[in-house]
Amino acid sequence: MGKSLIYKILESHLVEGNLVAGEDIGIKIDQTLTQDALGTMAYLEFETLGLDRVTTLSVSYVDHNTLQDGFENADDHKYLQDVANKYGIYYSKAGNGICHQVHVERFACPGQTLVGSDSHTPTSGSLGMFAMGVGGMDVAASMAGKPFHLVCPRVINIKLIGSLPRMCAAKDIVLKVLSILTTKGNVGTALEYTGEGAATLTVPQRATITNMGAEMGVTTSIFESDEKTKEFLKSQGREEVWKPFVADIDAEYDEVIVINLDELVPMVACPHSPDNVKTVAEMNQIDIDQVLVGSCTNSSYHDLMVVAAMLKGRKINPNVSFGVAPGSRQVLEMIAKNGALADIVASGARILESTCGFCVGCGQAPRTKSISLRTNNRNYEGRSGTKSALVHLVSAETAVASALTGKFTDPRTLDVDISHIELPEIYDIDDSMIIKPMCNHQVTILRGPNIGEPPTNTMMPEHFTAKVAIKVGDKITTDHIMPAGPYLKFRSNVPVYSNYTFCHVKPDFANICKSNVANGIFNVIVAHESYGQGSSREHAALCPMYLGVKAVIAKSIERIHMDNLVNFGILPLFLENESDYELLDENDELLFNMSNDEFRRGIFTIKNNTKGVTYNLKTPLNNRQKEIVKAGGKLNFFKNGGK
Ligand code: SF4
Repeated sequence: MGKSLIYKILESHLVEGNLVAGEDIGIKIDQTLTQDALGTMAYLEFETLGLDRVTTLSVSYVDHNTLQDGFENADDHKYLQDVANKYGIYYSKAGNGICHQVHVERFACPGQTLVGSDSHTPTSGSLGMFAMGVGGMDVAASMAGKPFHLVCPRVINIKLIGSLPRMCAAKDIVLKVLSILTTKGNVGTALEYTGEGAATLTVPQRATITNMGAEMGVTTSIFESDEKTKEFLKSQGREEVWKPFVADIDAEYDEVIVINLDELVPMVACPHSPDNVKTVAEMNQIDIDQVLVGSCTNSSYHDLMVVAAMLKGRKINPNVSFGVAPGSRQVLEMIAKNGALADIVASGARILESTCGFCVGCGQAPRTKSISLRTNNRNYEGRSGTKSALVHLVSAETAVASALTGKFTDPRTLDVDISHIELPEIYDIDDSMIIKPMCNHQVTILRGPNIGEPPTNTMMPEHFTAKVAIKVGDKITTDHIMPAGPYLKFRSNVPVYSNYTFCHVKPDFANICKSNVANGIFNVIVAHESYGQGSSREHAALCPMYLGVKAVIAKSIERIHMDNLVNFGILPLFLENESDYELLDENDELLFNMSNDEFRRGIFTIKNNTKGVTYNLKTPLNNRQKEIVKAGGKLNFFKNGGK
């Protein structure tokens, strides 16, 4: 039986374990990326490992929070540049673009492996790369040359047939996939896109699709490396890294989903989840207030040329605030030179910096109770910065059509021809904002007052008492746990950032945790399904760890967050019994027995002193992960000689 593309890459990088779905494997990592929101912590962690330089091709991007409304971000950027200089890391300056778009343009290579401290790292799967979002601690370990451990995924083949109809876009394909697979229940799964329809898509279109695999919680998404890949790499002056990389003709998959592109229509993900998908036609001309084009999902050269062509000679509806954030400086420069930017500006658009910005709640918060259409990938409640706003996710085509009319508008109803827009034969190549690694050991790393030390944990005690500090429901995202936006600037200072843990869900959470710890009692988080959805923000584990959280009890936990919990010595426990969730309440006092025997069995008996009942809770961790939790996290595990 033939092999999938994913298994071919895993096989060529395998250093530990067997390629059997569900088993723990260790793979060699070729490349790493970080962004500023998680980068500082990843590099602080790397520094504690005591190496002279990184062993991987590594890139440090500054794209998430470039607002300089205080010293904090500027301090972080300087720290990141000094670390890059000292340890042999490329440094992509603020303004050079969003990490995933720039990585696809300038670094991603077919057949290689990439881990990035950002959940949308699988965007580079558009070039036939095995790319995964992970926590900063795992990036630090990979830069140090340690194998990256993951659950060998089951692979779903998404077979695309037909071709995209007029005014339908790659975004509509991935929203269709989201409507099928949803945002829950895909842990341990990878998506492999093949078929004649896949072959018609350009690399930037493929990047939109692999990018939003993150919303489904899959391990990664990948396209084959074919002639389209070669064309793109050639246009970026990187043809030499191209190699053909395809699945065997008789490749075996765990599941096959066929999508006929001919039947596709413009789609929209409605509030507050990317899988709440409807057709644009169903939105029935509802009035809108704000439209934003940008983010790592839809701000490629092609996206912006479509935007410009649709806007040329037209004006944005007076009731709509319309903003455009080009995904990279390369693209911004190109549309500035060819006149497309002038058409966008003339329509009444606001031109935003080439950063994540509005996508991560740093600017462009919509007005109260407004309807915002965005081309990015997440529409979680409050992520825009305005809790009452209703954020809808759409393609660039739908975004512009709606911005022109002031209402949800199916772009197929517009009399515009965009079929002539093609990718350039050669992109403008200027890497002057990517500072080459110097590996200069004489560099003194400047640490402003915003840069703290990475906090460490203690070993897991054998017996302890803990209180339920918070009880939450389904689909709690890392944004709920550690909000971004204005709080993001505290990312390098855990004692300060931890004060905002769950601040929009339970404002006194941090104080409750601190008071319990002062009384010799640890803390526990109780959640239901799909806890820790969304970003790879390791602060969502690190800050709770700092506040004395020892365990998360849930029905299910998302992959990256589960790894982050383990990395910081927090034990994930699963409720086997639905009714156990109902029997746990905030402030309940729980007695934990964490003996070696319980760790070995993976079943923990926990007594609820408040209710007088006992539960059996199961951990999904493998033996290596259990050792990491017992050690109090990965840094301690490595210090004790763990591999
Ligand atoms: Fe940046 Fe948004 Fe993409 Fe995250 S999802 S990398 S915040 S643009």
